[in-house]
Amino acid sequence: MNIIDIINKKRKNEILTYDELKYTVDGFLNGTIVDSQMSSLLMAIVINGMTEQETFDLTDIMLRSGNTIDLSDIKGIKVDKHSTGGVGDKTTLVVVPLVASCGVNVAKMSGRSLGHTGGTIDKLESIKGFNVNLTRTDFIKQVNEIGCALTSQTGELVPADKKIYALRDLTATVESIPLIASSIMSKKLASGVDKIVIDVKVGEDAFMKNLDEAIELAKLMVKIGKSQNKETICVLTNMDEPLGNYIGNALEVHEAIETLKNNGPKDLVEVVTTLASYMVSLGKNIDYEDAKKIVIENLNNGKAYEKFCEMVKYQNGDINNIKVSDKIISIKSSKSGYIKDIVAYNLGMLERELGDTRLEGKNTIDYTVGFKLNKKTGEYVNEGEELLQIYQGSKEIDVNKVLDCFIIQEQKTDKKTLIYEIIK
Ligand code: URA
Repeated sequence: MNIIDIINKKRKNEILTYDELKYTVDGFLNGTIVDSQMSSLLMAIVINGMTEQETFDLTDIMLRSGNTIDLSDIKGIKVDKHSTGGVGDKTTLVVVPLVASCGVNVAKMSGRSLGHTGGTIDKLESIKGFNVNLTRTDFIKQVNEIGCALTSQTGELVPADKKIYALRDLTATVESIPLIASSIMSKKLASGVDKIVIDVKVGEDAFMKNLDEAIELAKLMVKIGKSQNKETICVLTNMDEPLGNYIGNALEVHEAIETLKNNGPKDLVEVVTTLASYMVSLGKNIDYEDAKKIVIENLNNGKAYEKFCEMVKYQNGDINNIKVSDKIISIKSSKSGYIKDIVAYNLGMLERELGDTRLEGKNTIDYTVGFKLNKKTGEYVNEGEELLQIYQGSKEIDVNKVLDCFIIQEQKTDKKTLIYEIIK
């Protein structure tokens, strides 16, 4: 077997075997297959695609490329939740304690922000003292004792995806549905959970720009899950504007807390209750509608919020110490009209510019900064009316760039569909 024959085969749109894919992934990880050869193969895959069997095989090979997590010491069915990445997406902070309060264990590993999207671990760090680096033993003990835990991902999980993804990023080979599906699913499957709910974000500001592509990705991920005996449900949700009213680490934690106290914004509540209900239905093996009743009840009766407080305390966080900036700048609309779009991508990048120096190669985060949106799509704004607030830290950003994120027009616009489809 040699890599040149394998690249040639894919270039001619022939099907690769498990052994050929394994030879390639192993070789790339140990350095005998070099970046130029791997990029050439990846580009052939982007152009010619992969069969379902090839995608199942690639996922299986990648998920076994490093450590897999054994969660069998946790009692009951473990259900995980994943988001393909959004702005203002604080759903994990709400869903994890909410589902645990309904009696389903959630052992969740999360990541940091990437590009324009926020990261749950950064958000949790805005709670003073919160430990985001649990050992495996503590992680398992906590889930067994209180039903949930949130910790950061370990480095050794799916090293093949880490190395291949970095190359894809540099070689314009990210946009391939089989490559995206195998990348996401290999990480989920390696994390040791039994069932998976995936929030597939759809829209201008998401990986999947249109609904057809998102449906194709979701169907493939559901099939990959089945091929590994892990039931998977995908919820396709809108990402044409940020979710909820706040963007920024501590601000989003406060909004998540309000949502857990049943005072959340409508769009966030709808996404959270849908995801949580599918998770509870999988975890308890009950109908979606029955699961939804329990989920709504636990948002109403305070049990979800109590579970959040319990988790924060268990991980040494101080729920009363989540600081937001007191330097609040009011930004007024320069014209009247209906909000057609809020460019979440640009707003996400501006939020990072406000308080995150990692994009400049440094390593500090000001957790207190961000935005509060006073208007969402479909709403009317008058010239001079407050459109948003900037919670500013030591850095200033160009206010015009913030205003440009709001697309305002004279014609009335409808509120966008929030939940497009469920694929299972
Ligand atoms: N997210 C991932 O984890 N992988 C991809 O390829 C795209 C999005």
